[in-house]
Amino acid sequence: MRRSKFFMPTLKEIPAEAQIPSHRLMLRAGMVRQTAAGIYSWLPMGYRVLKKIEQIVREEMDATGAQEILMPTIQPAELWRESGRYDDYGKEMLRITDRHGRDMLYGPTNEEQITDIFRKTVRSYRDLPKLLYHIQWKFRDEVRPRFGVMRGREFLMKDSYSFDLDYESARRSYNKMFVSYLRTFARMGLTPIPMAADSGAIGGDMSHEFIILADTGESAVYCDKAWFNTDPLSLDIDFDADLQSIVDRWTELYAAADEKHDPATCPVDADQLYTGRGIEVGHIFNFGTKYSKSMGATVSNSEGQEVPVEMGSYGIGVSRLVGAIIEASHDAVGIIWPPSVAPFQVGLINLRAGDAGCDAVCQQLYDGLAAANIETLYDDRDERAGVKFAEMDLIGLPWQIAVGPRGVKAGTVEIKQRGGEREEVPAESALARLT
Ligand code: ATP
Ligand code: MG
Repeated sequence: MRRSKFFMPTLKEIPAEAQIPSHRLMLRAGMVRQTAAGIYSWLPMGYRVLKKIEQIVREEMDATGAQEILMPTIQPAELWRESGRYDDYGKEMLRITDRHGRDMLYGPTNEEQITDIFRKTVRSYRDLPKLLYHIQWKFRDEVRPRFGVMRGREFLMKDSYSFDLDYESARRSYNKMFVSYLRTFARMGLTPIPMAADSGAIGGDMSHEFIILADTGESAVYCDKAWFNTDPLSLDIDFDADLQSIVDRWTELYAAADEKHDPATCPVDADQLYTGRGIEVGHIFNFGTKYSKSMGATVSNSEGQEVPVEMGSYGIGVSRLVGAIIEASHDAVGIIWPPSVAPFQVGLINLRAGDAGCDAVCQQLYDGLAAANIETLYDDRDERAGVKFAEMDLIGLPWQIAVGPRGVKAGTVEIKQRGGEREEVPAESALARLT
């Protein structure tokens, strides 16, 4: 992509309304624009990242055997009256009336809707277990939308739902999601920390929140420093096997939120205890038969009896992750994208656009990068070098290649990893360094 053609409305001023780094950087880098409080439009730079995150989530869901569906954003109030949540949900629910006077709502989540689909389609234990997911926009009329996309009113969520015949099978489904979440967040360059969570009014005893550490997070976190040396991607996973031993290993290390942490009983020594803040990027829970009972989602078991199905739901804040990753990975001058979610891998900087030599070397590199399928943003504008370098640092692409007249004469270009040191290399070997 040529920078001269790319729609990336960057800001020089620090936007006054943005209180935390990720919000400021997303606005400055032209990733999003606010449409109304907590409602954002995604511009090309932001949308590219959102899609990368979504794709990692999708791949890791598919790996567990979960199947992707897409349910609508607008739901009939009727379903929520059946579960009893229409009144319980309160003001966070955006309620809509259609032209026939029917009560509708913009879904804040989809338990009722998926339970309705299930009860109309699945009859027998032979069709279980089932794991379904979708990636769809949600609306919650948050009291205080803030921190940009991290606490929006409209936001993109991956939500999956499991259906099992009994508790033992439900536990296996839960464990699949647990392990898949570890992998999903690790692939985004994050260190996920699962913390046992209250399953609250919803009942059941399997519930974890996945937290990533960031000073600006909304949750207090107390955890063993050993968490920083964990690597979920080092695990060899067979999703058809019983994953309990892996889950046990990952819940052995201490991690607790404010409500659950008690210094008097904390098993971790003070010098080994990390105390800080975190961002909730995912939440999984098993809620047993809460919805299947109230909404009549039953299957016949092997004895021919009708039994309510065991369910769980599992959310990931896809759009929140864009902000969360920036919170976890930035410096004083801009974003530092982990390569797996970076909008482009390389920023190619022409330090003297219009100079025949620089143009030719850049074009050659640009073509070579395209041929190697390396997404590149080529800054071909007639701008000062300082402006271009500052913008590249701001948008945080993993690699920068700078081509200037002096280097062109000597047959070299400058190459730099975001956050690292500049290095002069022969122009021909620049590509090889990246591939
Ligand atoms: P929170 O405590 O942050 O409000 P929640 O418990 O309401 O989260 P869930 O209902 O479990 O969240 O939703 C699943 C995931 O969706 C959360 O883990 C979070 O990553 C994301 N999420 C929830 N609310 C928002 C929001 N207002 N804006 C962006 N993402 C959100
Ligand atoms: Mg909430």
